[in-house]
Amino acid sequence: MNTHRRVLIVGGGFSGMSAAILLAEQGNTVDLVEIDAGWRSYGAGISLNASIFRVFDRLGILDGFRECGAIIDGIEIRGPADQVLAHLPTPSVMDGAPGSGGIMRPVLARLLADRVRATATNIALGQSFGTIADGVDGVDVTFSDGRTGTYDLVIGADGLFSSVRAAVFPNAAAPRYVGQAVWRAVVKRPAHLPSVAMWMGPGLKLGITPVSKDESYIFLTENRPENTYVPPETQLESLKALLGHFTAPTAQALAAELGEHSQIVYRPLEQLLLPRPWYVGRVVLIGDAVHATTPHMAAGAMIGMEDAVVLADELAAHHNVSTALDAFQSRRWERARMVVENSGRLAEIEQGHGTPDEHRQIMGQTLGALAQPI
Ligand SMILES: Cc1cc2nc3c(=O)[nH]c(=O)nc-3n(C[C@H](O)[C@H](O)[C@H](O)COP(=O)(O)OP(=O)(O)OC[C@H]3O[C@@H](n4cnc5c(N)ncnc54)[C@H](O)[C@@H]3O)c2cc1C
Repeated sequence: MNTHRRVLIVGGGFSGMSAAILLAEQGNTVDLVEIDAGWRSYGAGISLNASIFRVFDRLGILDGFRECGAIIDGIEIRGPADQVLAHLPTPSVMDGAPGSGGIMRPVLARLLADRVRATATNIALGQSFGTIADGVDGVDVTFSDGRTGTYDLVIGADGLFSSVRAAVFPNAAAPRYVGQAVWRAVVKRPAHLPSVAMWMGPGLKLGITPVSKDESYIFLTENRPENTYVPPETQLESLKALLGHFTAPTAQALAAELGEHSQIVYRPLEQLLLPRPWYVGRVVLIGDAVHATTPHMAAGAMIGMEDAVVLADELAAHHNVSTALDAFQSRRWERARMVVENSGRLAEIEQGHGTPDEHRQIMGQTLGALAQPI
């Protein structure tokens, strides 16, 4: 069953764009408002687990990914001096699809935005909503440019600090700082890098993921009990100093490559898992707005984009919006909970509250669970 609906999506990130593509393709009237007038995505890489490729396939961006991203195989975990501790396989979950990969965020955002633009979605950039009120004929929304609209469904896909969440769940807990921050930078792709490589150091974890034929991005997770401000002008020097804790030749080569030209992104890590319900009336949350994970399993974008797939499927299957939203939430809760909580546990272990064995076990088990059908 497919019912034509008027849908508003607030937020044009990976989750919101995925929802726009699928719901517009189903024949719904889709409005998407994105607060950033430039519809920008910041310049860092993103690591991709096998399960995201079935979503890419559904969204029609798998070929684009093959062209612009990097396909890799497995995750290698090493000690600070380069000794191999474990190799986690990353088998494909779909015939002919990669088992693992990486891509630059702006490139993935462009692939998705091109697909959104190819649908009939009405895109309003530099816009947000003012008020949302569930009324008799639908959800009445006012916009920042003074327009108004009435919708059968409003999707809050506006990320970790979601304004839609604040509007419909005013008592929701705030995101929680997990005691770690991550440093990222784009570097040349080392010739010998067939997999994601990670080095476990003292209070630090360094990783490198290829993101294109020529480029990789590094991520360095640092234990920082306090979420203090790090001035941009000190970041290059600080990242180089942190890399100095790793004697592995690849880590030293990475430190040597960084310079004033390098774009460094520093980010404190926060998590949020909204308890159910994830919807109020005809307003539902997806992606980071409802389940923001730390990047320990590289699965946050994936579960947000999967939300869009499941939501579109349930809306197509049910005439009644509440029934569809309930089915959506039931199918998504356990998977999102697992990703957020297991990633949070990895953060705790990396801060000395657990063993390396448990760390590897959780990573392996979570990858296995993520490979299951959604
Ligand atoms: C350091 C770090 C590394 C990560 N690495 C990975 C990784 O390797 N692999 C992975 O799968 N995931 C990773 N993630 C998680 C991933 O980045 C997020 O889960 C994903 O970006 C969430 O997408 P989203 O669309 O739900 O939210 P967002 O990406 O936050 O998008 C929200 C959008 O809404 C817009 N918006 C905000 N407020 C409003 C408003 N009021 N009105 C209109 N628009 C609004 C924003 O401008 C933005 O475009 C990482 C996260 C972090 C913090």
